Amino acid sequence: MNIGARPHRPVRAGAKRGKARMIATAVLVTASCGAGLLTAGTGTVQAAARPDVQGGGRPGPESSRTGLSGLSETWSKASTALLQPVIAAAEGARGRPVDCRRAKCVALTFDDGPGQYTDALLRQLAAYRARATFYVTGQNVVAYPGILRRTVAAGHELGNHTWSHPNLTRLSAAGVRAELARADQAVKAVTGLVPRTIRPPYGAFNTAVRRQTSRPMVMWSVDTLDWLHRDSAKVAKKAIKSVRPGSVILFHDIHPTTVRAMPQVLKALSKRGYTFVTVSQMFGGNPPRLVYSRGGAGLL
Ligand SMILES: [Zn+2]
Repeated sequence: MNIGARPHRPVRAGAKRGKARMIATAVLVTASCGAGLLTAGTGTVQAAARPDVQGGGRPGPESSRTGLSGLSETWSKASTALLQPVIAAAEGARGRPVDCRRAKCVALTFDDGPGQYTDALLRQLAAYRARATFYVTGQNVVAYPGILRRTVAAGHELGNHTWSHPNLTRLSAAGVRAELARADQAVKAVTGLVPRTIRPPYGAFNTAVRRQTSRPMVMWSVDTLDWLHRDSAKVAKKAIKSVRPGSVILFHDIHPTTVRAMPQVLKALSKRGYTFVTVSQMFGGNPPRLVYSRGGAGLL
């Protein structure tokens, strides 16, 4: 169920980290399945957010394929006891102290999964003790619950990328809330966790969309355009050339070419002294209301 196979159509990104006083090159990309226009700019980010939870979902292919049908049948009432090790691992990862005001941090983010290549990616990240953030869709969470639990158990962070990957600016307020809530519910049922941050599909949002949640909306400062190129060498080159301390890099783990690019990315950035952190770690556990947007303070 590759609902995330639709290409990301990045709209905006770029900002100045308020708290940690880190400045990242802003990237505004307007692309329609191809040509992109890059523009630079900065914006101030600040404030925090609270999680909200609601929604529903249904079981998917991995649950039956991997003998987890029991979970799929009752997954909306998933056992807290069963999930304790996963939750403990996640808490442990969140508690890992990384001061990105001092360390050279980079946040690798992977959208649209989980999917059939995510396990391979998890192995690559583990080889470099790298933490990452996965902006998952609710539909794929339900399709691949085991992969999602392995992702959390490995210490990675989960973000909400909606239930079905729509352009939220085209939905009603209730529609936006339902997309976010249903994805939250799917993640919570499988892992016991609620994503702390949101990434709207295609990076598309407006004031009406932002009013529907108080959680941070996290964009990116480096777009690898991996969905467009489908070329491991290009993806790796873009990430390695563009990275700066404080970068949030956008990838999609539903593309095998992206996953194959990661060893090179991890190796090169490790050599340069980067620490691979989750989005929450990057912002000291308290991501700003809006991360990397052209909007700046006026939109906060
Ligand atoms: Zn996406």
